[in-house]
Amino acid sequence: MSTEPPRQPRQEPAPTGPDFLRLVDRSEAGAVVSEYGTEIVSALRGGIDGSAGVAWVQGQSCSGCTMSFLQSDSPAIEETLSELRERVSFHSTLMEPSGDAAVDGLAEGPDVLIVEGAIPTRIPRAATLGVDEQGNPKPVLDWVIELGERADVVIAAGSCAAFGGLPAAGRHDSNEVGESPTGARGLQFDGEDPGGVFGPAFRTDAGLPVINVAGCPLYAEHLILTLATVLNGHGVALDEYNRPLPLFGPLVHDDCELREDYECFEFAAEPGDGGCLYDVGCAGVYAHCDGSMRLRNGGTTVCRNVGAPCIGCVEPAFWDRFSPFYSNTRDDDGTGRADPPDRPEAGGTDRNDGPGVAASLPDAPRSLPGIALACAMAVVLVPLAPLAPFVWLYDRHTDGGSIVRGVDRPSAEH
Ligand code: SF4
Ligand code: SF4
Repeated sequence: MSTEPPRQPRQEPAPTGPDFLRLVDRSEAGAVVSEYGTEIVSALRGGIDGSAGVAWVQGQSCSGCTMSFLQSDSPAIEETLSELRERVSFHSTLMEPSGDAAVDGLAEGPDVLIVEGAIPTRIPRAATLGVDEQGNPKPVLDWVIELGERADVVIAAGSCAAFGGLPAAGRHDSNEVGESPTGARGLQFDGEDPGGVFGPAFRTDAGLPVINVAGCPLYAEHLILTLATVLNGHGVALDEYNRPLPLFGPLVHDDCELREDYECFEFAAEPGDGGCLYDVGCAGVYAHCDGSMRLRNGGTTVCRNVGAPCIGCVEPAFWDRFSPFYSNTRDDDGTGRADPPDRPEAGGTDRNDGPGVAASLPDAPRSLPGIALACAMAVVLVPLAPLAPFVWLYDRHTDGGSIVRGVDRPSAEH
């Protein structure tokens, strides 16, 4: 059970109907997409038949979020999605028109503006699109401001557009995120701080702030569900970082399939090993995302169940905040994160500025208390060794984990 209190929605903008995204809260991958496929299809069709113009603009982007979206696998809406992919009115990677025809269409202004990639604010020419009236390369910064102020909905697709992401990284100090050479920022956040390209008070004509569909890359189902919600005119509950709360409310750690290993202090020594990945830098104890339930790749995998620790890619100030990856030590004090849940004995205020997990485990070879503990356990356990076969037989007749280990798996509720 998480020690964190349930997070409350920061705001309920433009509540024009039930919050469709609440339907997906804690539901499995694909379940809501299948169950509410008709509604999703009708929403996406609005983007296809021209009743709602959707444009996708790329700033400082690796196009990974586009690739993730293209590879979405939602069978119930597959056909419509493929139409949407082809007919988004502007997407520099996907669309058929090119040159002036493409840019002229964009200039008309979409109803829904999707932005992928960070926006360079100090050196705007680091990302340009088309030319301005003087014939000079036109910064994506200018496009985003122009189009964002006219759109009903602005969505930051991926953590670069939401918070600055990779182009804003490199200082290893979350307080300095945004101080990248190009001044890379998110649309409405600069790392963890409100105020990216648009100020904190920015709202679209529909009364919405920039909606941050975070992730590196974003998860296609997150974007599809968010699009379906806003295109159908529903309100969206957002968290303090403007992420859709039903998608980014759960703590990764809460529903992780390795949680039982965590509770039993069974930790992997290397990425790819069996056991909880905390000791190899898993950020699942800090990262908010429903990824532990909404598995990728046809509902089969997510980072941790293929041996890769969570690297916190959905959180603001990712990458700096959680790097170096695959390590439970860091080279700065910076973030003020709370202790991992359920680990009050871990010490420190952050997994990197305190002794961390190692402090809560017996350390027999290296400390006097550890040696004393080991000796006491030997005195108690050695005489009981002849009983081991009976314990083994008992184990065969139980349903495993919790009895043998003496630990109840905590409730997923939080
Ligand atoms: S969020 Fe990640 S995948 Fe998406 S554009 Fe940025 S670096 Fe690429
Ligand atoms: S692998 Fe990470 S998210 Fe999973 S239980 Fe361990 S610390 Fe938590």
